[in-house]
Amino acid sequence: MRIPMTEYLDIDLDTEMWRCRRCDADIAPARDDYKTGTLVYDRDPTEIHRPLIDADRYEFTFAPDPSWCRILEFSCPGCGTMLETEYLPPGHPPTHDLEIDVDALRAQWSGWQGPVPLTLGRDVQVTDHLHTH
Ligand SMILES: [Zn+2]
Repeated sequence: MRIPMTEYLDIDLDTEMWRCRRCDADIAPARDDYKTGTLVYDRDPTEIHRPLIDADRYEFTFAPDPSWCRILEFSCPGCGTMLETEYLPPGHPPTHDLEIDVDALRAQWSGWQGPVPLTLGRDVQVTDHLHTH
């Protein structure tokens, strides 16, 4: 059973792996940080947030200082889909932002019958169709 966790990631409870929802590639063990199995692009933030004023004339240009900030882009090794980005000081290790209790997740879904809802969690209730045609 595959449980959607983010827009692009799910956890396969049978293999206990993070998987890409776009190409089905195994990314990393579900009990570990999914980022360990991704491709990482360490970007200069001025490539994304370009200076708004002349960098040759002014010290502060409204662009992030690359000596203080880097942008890490994490992508699927199978299809290249960008899974996550984060802003960190240079040299800072990626944050472990999703730490899933796999045993609790398995228990939560153990009695589930039928297809897993793709966009809603177990505790989200769908209201009846409210608008009229
Ligand atoms: Zn993929």
